[in-house]
Amino acid sequence: MRIDLHAHSNISDGTEAPAAVMAAAAAAGLDVIALTDHDSTDGWAEAARGAVENGVALVPGMEISCRTDQGISVHLLSYLHDPTHEGLLEEITKAKDARLTRAERMVTLLAEDYPLSWDDVIHHVTPGATLGRPHIADALVAAGVVADRSEAFTSILTSHSRYFVQHYAPEPALAVELVRAAGGVPVFAHPVASARGRVVGERTYREMIEAGLAGLEVDHRDNPEEGREFLRRLAAKHGLLMTGSSDYHGTGKPNRLGEYLTAPEVFARIEELGTGTPVIR
Ligand code: AMP
Ligand code: FE
Ligand code: FE
Ligand code: ZN
Repeated sequence: MRIDLHAHSNISDGTEAPAAVMAAAAAAGLDVIALTDHDSTDGWAEAARGAVENGVALVPGMEISCRTDQGISVHLLSYLHDPTHEGLLEEITKAKDARLTRAERMVTLLAEDYPLSWDDVIHHVTPGATLGRPHIADALVAAGVVADRSEAFTSILTSHSRYFVQHYAPEPALAVELVRAAGGVPVFAHPVASARGRVVGERTYREMIEAGLAGLEVDHRDNPEEGREFLRRLAAKHGLLMTGSSDYHGTGKPNRLGEYLTAPEVFARIEELGTGTPVIR
């Protein structure tokens, strides 16, 4: 069984519609794929239809942007939660709304130095999608300022850039608690991805584990090997699940579907633990 538990559609910052992601998953020889758009479950229904049509199993999921009290960014994957759970829905709605204001502020700053308007950005966003820096990057590519998203993220759009603006994001332990309350399975995404920014220390792991963290995404291209070894030890010590996934974004990132996989036993455990929504087969 080939299982990839991390992929994005154009409901957030992937470049393909949810059904197209399911078709791509089948073409990549996957048996199981999770759709984990940022702060949104709006792609689940279309993905479910696409999964059935293409003969792949769909794990409905989401990736929640969080921030610690020290300002460190944490991404939390949620699998099989109830998408109507009020507490969780409230947090992601708050974050999604804040992302809109934040993107507007970033574009205002960028427009002082680059040929960029709000309309240029909106042009690259599916109506209702979760807005992020990748959409601003797309507009900068279209304007000829950078060659691709990756270049935008190593220059103009880094979190150290003068154009960077933060948005509201829940603390990681709160997000873990809410995912559990919604019957979901919380997995810490690419925990040691140091190239993206500062990574969390022992206290944040402890708080997330105490709140009910179920697993760590160990095998991910952004986790350096030393970090993976640290994660394996942490998982063994605390009885956490270990996953591996691609973090596919269509043409928005070099990550390819199935480049990292999750073991069938781990997937079986996730399916047992997730009580908010079923796997679609
Ligand atoms: P935001 O949540 O709006 O701050 O933007 C962060 C998002 O940008 C993440 O979800 C990543 O998927 C995406 N991202 C980060 N680094 C890169 C990169 N080098 N190339 C393309 N997308 C990236
Ligand atoms: Fe993303
Ligand atoms: Fe992420
Ligand atoms: Zn992701």
